Amino acid sequence: MTTAILSDIHGNLEALEAVLAEIDRRRPDRIICLGDIVGYGASPNECLAQVRSRCETVLLGNHDAAASGGPEAARFNIYARVAAEWTMKTLTRDNREYLQRLPLTATHDSFFLVHASPACPRDWEYLLDRFDAEPQFHYFTESMCFIGHTHQPAIYLADPGGTKSLPLSEGALDPNRRYIVNVGSVGQPRDHDPRACFVLYHESSTTLEYVRVPYDIEGAQSKIRAAQLPEVLAARLATGE
Ligand code: ZN
Repeated sequence: MTTAILSDIHGNLEALEAVLAEIDRRRPDRIICLGDIVGYGASPNECLAQVRSRCETVLLGNHDAAASGGPEAARFNIYARVAAEWTMKTLTRDNREYLQRLPLTATHDSFFLVHASPACPRDWEYLLDRFDAEPQFHYFTESMCFIGHTHQPAIYLADPGGTKSLPLSEGALDPNRRYIVNVGSVGQPRDHDPRACFVLYHESSTTLEYVRVPYDIEGAQSKIRAAQLPEVLAARLATGE
């Protein structure tokens, strides 16, 4: 069983289509989306149409919550808040109601899935390093937890000597140990690599693969500018910051 795990698409249809084309070439058994389908980018309804038809499991992200009437926008910076208000107005009623129904967590065989953090999914905490990750292992029982939210790919290994941060090239995982894996972001990477990012997890060999996909960044940027969303949201796509 191979699972493709996507997160943080953020209304970037150009990035999502490039990722889905790569997924069609790699033919995983299923696709999971960890949330933040909308917010920042200019194609929220188009991204939701793809996610709704292609993903077996879809979770709620903080931007999905904000754009569908949740209180999350009050904690956003000005750019995210402007984008959330624009997204709320742009979403179809059906898509808004779909977002309102999304769950915060899911369990799939040996995986635990959550957008931000296992400890308190609706606090939208950021797990930015191994110290943030360490206490989180107490809040799920499965061997693997997949997260998104920071837009920064990372692999954390539970270890009696202290949680370790592993290099992303560490593809072959030990089936007897426990991991938290941040799958990175499809539509707004923040690890200084502007290419779209997602993960393929091959369960039979417990192998993890980060896939980076170039996409039409200028196309996504021109839609953001045409929608009169904040310029910074277009500019950052080129640098992956
Ligand atoms: Zn996000």
